[in-house]
Amino acid sequence: MSAEIGYDAAHEAPLTAVAQDVSTGAPVVGDGEGCHSGATLKEAARAAGQSALLDQFAADYPQGPHDKPQSMCPAFGSLRVGLRMRRVATVLSGSACCVYGLTFVSHFYGARRSVGYVPFNSETLVTGKLFEDIREAVHDIADPDHYDAIVVTNLCVPTASGVPLRLLPKEINGVRIVGIDVPGFGIPTHAEAKDVLAGAMLAYARAEIEAGPVAAPASGKSDRPTVALLGEMFPADPMMIGAMLAPMGLAAGPVVPCREWRELYAVLDSSVCAAIHPFYAASVREFQAAGRPIVGSAPVGLDGTADWLAAIGVAMQIDPARVAAAQNAFLPAISAALKANPIKGTITLSGYEGSELLVARLLIESGAHVPYVGTACARSEWSDLDRQWLEAKGVKVKFRASLEDDLSAMEAIRPDLAIGTTPVVQKAKEQAIPALYFTNLISARPLMGPAGAGSLGVVVNAAMAGKARMEGMKAFFEGVGTGDTAGIWEGQPNLRPDFRAAHQKKLEKAAKAAKASEMI
Ligand code: SF4
Repeated sequence: MSAEIGYDAAHEAPLTAVAQDVSTGAPVVGDGEGCHSGATLKEAARAAGQSALLDQFAADYPQGPHDKPQSMCPAFGSLRVGLRMRRVATVLSGSACCVYGLTFVSHFYGARRSVGYVPFNSETLVTGKLFEDIREAVHDIADPDHYDAIVVTNLCVPTASGVPLRLLPKEINGVRIVGIDVPGFGIPTHAEAKDVLAGAMLAYARAEIEAGPVAAPASGKSDRPTVALLGEMFPADPMMIGAMLAPMGLAAGPVVPCREWRELYAVLDSSVCAAIHPFYAASVREFQAAGRPIVGSAPVGLDGTADWLAAIGVAMQIDPARVAAAQNAFLPAISAALKANPIKGTITLSGYEGSELLVARLLIESGAHVPYVGTACARSEWSDLDRQWLEAKGVKVKFRASLEDDLSAMEAIRPDLAIGTTPVVQKAKEQAIPALYFTNLISARPLMGPAGAGSLGVVVNAAMAGKARMEGMKAFFEGVGTGDTAGIWEGQPNLRPDFRAAHQKKLEKAAKAAKASEMI
């Protein structure tokens, strides 16, 4: 008889066996696989002939230590890019739970557009019927009166099963069909998934341009050479950038991700590409294939704007006197805006948008002490100048930062303000540290040129001034909703430390057994 103490029969439940393809030995994936099954799905994807795709993802979006989704599903990034484009339909192929979550979040963010879904089961996945169903759905939707393009997205399970979207027709009734694989086990963040769709659309548009004349953009063509802007930004930022480029005889081109198909042609017609957000690897590849030079960093703050204008001047071979004219026209205004909105205090900063390093530069030039910047995105050639600038100021810059990295930096530094993702903000507030959510409160402000130089001071200073209020709230709610007091109780919780100890012992035993079997 076992000496182990037991209080229910849960430990006797049999483990679910993972099926194997007898011909290849690879795991067979089913509808039940999820975010937690990354390794299994990856192995299955390679066995299904998706190695080239996974290798390209690994080159474009290098992983580690943050190699699996820690926040929302990465496919949300590409889904949102498609949903924001005019006359573009989106169709998802994936597990029902994934599609439910993705459509829920899309509508939460005001998509106001239907998301198409082709459901599957184990049989349709294995027999290839799912691909037939997708093709039928695309034929049904392809109405040129309503759509310029249809984006079909394979989520984790169809990608791992090798559902071949590349075999879909390239065009039906004049409606372009763009098939992409956006698996969580190959693309670490939803920011990078935006690039998967943007890059696929640019590749399609480039092939169209090579094949013959294409439609002019609805907004008309600039009479000056343009600078295409890579990365979603506050709507006033492209205008500010355009104003700063004007003395150099240049104009701001469209922003990628685009809002309509014809903009893609204008983007590729630009003379230079500004990689404002540094993670658009697939899109950069398309610009380079079109022979366009790429300029990294962005015109943020004093040093950033001076260097960026100079870099654009070099890329476009502009007369240095005209570059100096642009710098002289805007740098004094940036300097004045920074001085008029000083920030005093220590700030830790983390996020997954790709603009974290730029925001940190602005905060430091405004007077803040920023010891730590974490970004979920990978290190990139296009953010290297920002990294160097920050490190020269003594900032610890962590690429592919995990939530644990961001939390431990915040807890060790105990800043006057933590700017971060939702869980970082929540943790900071629990500790009475004022906090701001990066995506809603920082990304939703201008960052470029003189407009950006003064935009952060008000919100950041107001948040830091709330420290006493945070302390008051912490004292008031101390002990509520944590540990044994979490949830709703009619009486005192019935504490059983003996059960806990026994359960803990069981967990430790299981961990030891797992470790031992790993060694075998
Ligand atoms: S598609 Fe997204 S939600 Fe679904 S398993 Fe993959 S990463 Fe998770």
